Amino acid sequence: MKSKELAPFNNLVDAFAAMPGIGEKSALKLAYHIVSEGSYDGMKLSHAIEQAVESIQRCRKCNNLSQDELCHICSDELRDRTKLCLVESAKDILTIEKLGQYKGLYYVLSDIDTFDLVHLRDALKGVNELIFAFAPSIASDTMMLYIESQLEDMNLQFTKIAQGVPTGISLDSVDTLSLARAIEDRVSI
Ligand SMILES: [Zn+2]
Repeated sequence: MKSKELAPFNNLVDAFAAMPGIGEKSALKLAYHIVSEGSYDGMKLSHAIEQAVESIQRCRKCNNLSQDELCHICSDELRDRTKLCLVESAKDILTIEKLGQYKGLYYVLSDIDTFDLVHLRDALKGVNELIFAFAPSIASDTMMLYIESQLEDMNLQFTKIAQGVPTGISLDSVDTLSLARAIEDRVSI
């Protein structure tokens, strides 16, 4: 299938295939669509990618995706600044925000192995409840215990989202009703 003459096409297939959740077959289908009949779609996609890559950064305070130094949640004065929800990925913020029920702040623990404790402590100023919204797993339990032990002196109430979120799957795969209930029924740890 792959020939030298079609190098740009093959590069496009490879670029799609490198994306999470896109297999070789879908990559081929997308690339084929773009070069054969979807040149407008292709240009639109290329422009959107360029704009997103150039303009989206990490929020200085919570590591959420943001167009500005502070994300729209950190800069929203109406959010409840006494609650902070710790998530494993900025994607989880999108999932929880879609439920429209949680009104506190967030913090993305982007790299679990090397996260910056001083930075997290800074984000926790004024907060009195720290909610762990991790997908249940042994690793996340260990992480919760570790973080709790490191923040012992901060006088925080530690809670986690309730059981009902199945073990081993990411939050964006949980149905919205279960996730909404899990946040509502969070338990002290
Ligand atoms: Zn933020």
